[in-house]
Amino acid sequence: MERVAIVTGGGRGIGAAIAQLLARDGFSVVAWDLQDVLGSQDAAWIGDTQGVDAMAVDVSSEEQVTTAVESIVAERGGVACLVNNAAISPKRPDGYRVPPIETTTQEWDAVMAVNLRGPFLVTRAVLPSMIQAGWGRIVNISSTAGRQGARVAGLPYGVAKAGINGLTRTLALEVGKHGITVNSVAPGRIATPMSARSAPEVQAASRARIPVGREGTPWDVAGLVSYLCSDEAGYVTGTTIDINGGSFIAP
Ligand code: NAD
Repeated sequence: MERVAIVTGGGRGIGAAIAQLLARDGFSVVAWDLQDVLGSQDAAWIGDTQGVDAMAVDVSSEEQVTTAVESIVAERGGVACLVNNAAISPKRPDGYRVPPIETTTQEWDAVMAVNLRGPFLVTRAVLPSMIQAGWGRIVNISSTAGRQGARVAGLPYGVAKAGINGLTRTLALEVGKHGITVNSVAPGRIATPMSARSAPEVQAASRARIPVGREGTPWDVAGLVSYLCSDEAGYVTGTTIDINGGSFIAP
């Protein structure tokens, strides 16, 4: 039977590489993204990649998430794998992070709605079909910002990414008995449209902190996610795995 994978924010950047690698692994992938991105050059690869379909879904909208999951379950029988990858990282116009005292309530709420509530909404929607199947893989894309604090991104981003790691731990305890694993992947600096928006000096300082001497690519992250979504990874759950070239090494 086909195994369906949803990759949120799958139109470009890290999510696009994850979607393509999961399709290569045999998943039938649905890449969710905002209509703007799906209609842009960034997502042109989707039409050329076998095994990946696109769907316009805003993960911060409970209604859109519910409707989209219901239609996937009705048409394809269920969801085996979910990668919660969509996120935003608002910056000042000069590309620097917004300092805490300049962070508006609106910005706080917007980041929480996409980066933390979004993964909750999508997870809650797909879990019944995973439980029914007795098999599932959930991977949450966190960040070094959620491990040691945010240097490049703002306060709400760092808090939401730490929250993702907490969501991972508690959910793993709850759903392990159903054959479902839940893990976080915490990337350091990866070359994508998101990281390219930082100020050049911020980018240079981040690169200088990477012991392996290069920034990561979306494929570096996708390879790890591919493993976590495999049958072989069934004994790995509840953990946060750093992938950062050594820029943060947990004790
Ligand atoms: P990106 O901005 O290139 O891609 C993110 C995608 O998510 C975009 O296509 C965007 O349209 C989509 N998205 C945003 N809001 C959405 C919403 N409400 N609903 C659906 N889709 C939405 O960023 P990226 O660098 O590829 O980031 C992917 C993930 O990796 C994010 O969770 C990010 O926080 C994390 N991350 C990135 C880096 C890095 O250096 N690039 C480092 C650590 C963590």
